[in-house]
Order: sequence, then C-alpha cells, then structure tokens
Amino acid sequence: MTDVSSTERDVSPLAAELADDVLERFLRYVRIDTQSAYGRSTTPSTAKQLDLSRVLEAELREIGLEDVRLDEFGYVYGALPGAAGAPVIGLIAHVDTSPDVTGTGVAPQLHRDYDGSRIVLSGDETQVLDPEEQPALADKIGHDLVTSDGTTLLGADDKAGVAEIMAAVAYLKRNPHSEHAPLRVCFTVDEEIGAGADQLDLEDFGAEFAYTLDGSGIGEIEAETFNAWKVTVTIHGRAVHPGSAKGKLVSSIRLAADFIAALPRDRLSPETTEEREGFIHPTGISGTGEKTVIELIVRDHDRAKLDEHLALIRGIADVVGLKEPRARLVVAEEESYRNMREVIDRHPRVMAAAEEAVRRAGVEPVHAIIRGGTDGARLSARGLPTPNIFTGGQEYHSLREWASVQDMAAAAATVVELARVWAES
Ligand SMILES: [Zn+2]
Repeated sequence: MTDVSSTERDVSPLAAELADDVLERFLRYVRIDTQSAYGRSTTPSTAKQLDLSRVLEAELREIGLEDVRLDEFGYVYGALPGAAGAPVIGLIAHVDTSPDVTGTGVAPQLHRDYDGSRIVLSGDETQVLDPEEQPALADKIGHDLVTSDGTTLLGADDKAGVAEIMAAVAYLKRNPHSEHAPLRVCFTVDEEIGAGADQLDLEDFGAEFAYTLDGSGIGEIEAETFNAWKVTVTIHGRAVHPGSAKGKLVSSIRLAADFIAALPRDRLSPETTEEREGFIHPTGISGTGEKTVIELIVRDHDRAKLDEHLALIRGIADVVGLKEPRARLVVAEEESYRNMREVIDRHPRVMAAAEEAVRRAGVEPVHAIIRGGTDGARLSARGLPTPNIFTGGQEYHSLREWASVQDMAAAAATVVELARVWAES
C-alpha cells in the first residue's frame, strides 16, 4: 500500500541506529518463559523468571556495566558511571509476564513493513489484529511489527522495556564521549502480581530519581496511577442442619448476595467507568453457610473519593448487618499502592527531563494516566520518584499483543537522551 521510507518511520537518527539491537534483544528475551503466578509465598513467584534474570546478568557484564549482580530474589542490578555532580538516575523494567495468558513457547513473528491490512496470526487463525478496531495499529503503516503466533502472549510487557534499557546502556557504553548522568539499572520480578518493587533495595540501588520502561504507546509519559485498596468482607452466619433450621439458620451466603447486590452497578464499576473515574470491584467470593468471604478492590485517582468508596462499602456492610443482627460482618481494608502523582509533583525536574528526552528522541510527549498500578507507584511512595515511560508495546496481556520495532527504538533513544538531559542539569 503506502511506501514509507525508513527515514519517515524512524523518529530520529539515534532511534534508527538502536533499532536492530533492540529488536535482536527483544526477540531473544520473549522466547524465555517468565510467567509469574499468584498466591505463591516465594520471590520470585516462579523459578523460571530467573532464566531471563541470568541472561540479563551475563549481558550486563558483557556490556561492561559495574557492580552487576543477581540477588536472591531474582532482581538484576548494574551501574554505569557518568558525569560527576549529575544525579544518579534509575532505569527499571520487569522480567515477568502476566499470569493471565500463557507465555510458554512464545514464537515471535516479525511483520516487516506493515501494509495496514488485518494480521491473521499463524498459530490460531481466530486471533486477528484489525486496524479498524485498533487505531494504534492503523498508525503503524510502514513499521516493522512483532506479534506472537496467536497461541501465547508476546511479552512486550515488559520485555520491550528490558530490551530498550539494555540497548540504551550498551549504546552509552560504546559511545563514552557523550556526557551522561550516572545510571543504575534494575530488572525486577513479579511486577504482574503487584510485588515488583517490594524487594528493591533502594539504599543499595542509590538512585535519586528513576523511570520505569513499562508503558505502551509512543511518546507516553505516565505520572498518575490509581490509589488502590483491597477490602475483605467476612460474613459470619450460623450454620444449622437444614432439616431443623427453622428460626435458627443464618446463611452467610444469602447475606453475601445481599451485600453484592447493594454495590453500585451503573456507576463505580470497572465496566462503567473510564479515565479518572474510580470503582469498587468484587474480585472473589467463597464460602459456606457458616462463613463467606468477599474480596474487593477499590480504585480512584483521587484520594478523597477513594475514602468515600471505602465508606460506602462499610455502610453497605452495616445495612446488611442491621437486617440480620445474629450475623457478624467484618470489613478489613488494606492499602495496595498510592497514586504516585503527589510524590512526583514535588519533583518537577523528573517529568521535565522525561519530556525533554522524549522530544530529543524525535517524539511529541503525551501525558497519560494509568488505570492500574506500576512499580513506580510503590517506589514513589517509598521515596524514589519514578514515572513510567512508553515501550512501544500494545494490547498487553492478550494473545494479540504486538509491538512496533520503530517505537521500541524510539523508547531506547529516549533512555539515551534522558541520561544526557540529566547530565546537563
Ligand atoms: Zn508491565
């Protein structure tokens, strides 16, 4: 269809120079199965994540980074010294892929010079990437795209981020004449189960500011996440043999149904909200007559509104409890992560540097919000301001996940420019 020359699709000469290295690394990393798993008590949650961690450890040594180590949790660290007096900048990506879609036997497919038509995935013809359904795909005519064969996810989330950081530090190491800030690299495990940053040793890491490479569409910089809480409602009823239950049985299951039915449905639910609108979402229920446990997640970008959602849950539990005084409802609330914006806003240089770096890479920065969490949310709360930068991957956690090679190269170029921008401050 359209003939797009490589100078048009590459956003800058630097991105063009990095493209082959990013692609080569990306194709290698996605073949390694690193799926994490819920409900395990070990870190990493799955031993196979170490398969990639070991590869990255060896490659960081090969590139020539200092203090390279793989710790007992599967995190890989490395340091690249830089300009004296410049702040130390952290670069973070995660090795694991989503527990929701298989990552065993990923067979990446390279579609050179995309012509804008539907892409039918070769391993499962029911899996189709349709530019009519995906405006981002329609924008990539002339790009080289990578997909899976349709039987697994691709793993651009977050192996695109890993490949981009690796290509960027390799470039900086190869080109020692260019002034850049000292860098600290960390590849984490278990991000997809919400535990990615938990074991990151901030003192040892030694970064003043950091960036995760774990976003999506080209140019996006994200500094806003949900505030996230987990709520467990435990309903204690009274189990009695049904044959002699008259006037005695108190079914916790029926009370749980009343509780769920009282939650808002036409608003405050994931299926009816978007952008900055929050929600209350029941994620699990299990029980018997005697005891039923309901699990919920509560999300809002606005902290005050999040408190209102928590109060609403307590209010519904009270109403259900009042109707049946013999039952006991216990509401337990636990913070999962906080909107990182309040921390990042206190350090305006962090976003300013990211914007400048994206521009120098040849891309117009786009501010996006995350309807979810990211490693940066926990890290920011722990005192390391960490916004999130695009990787060029799309349709995460699905069999139709894909990535543009040129957008991945733009992200790698952004990392190089970021290191340079910070050396000027
Ligand atoms: Zn991710």
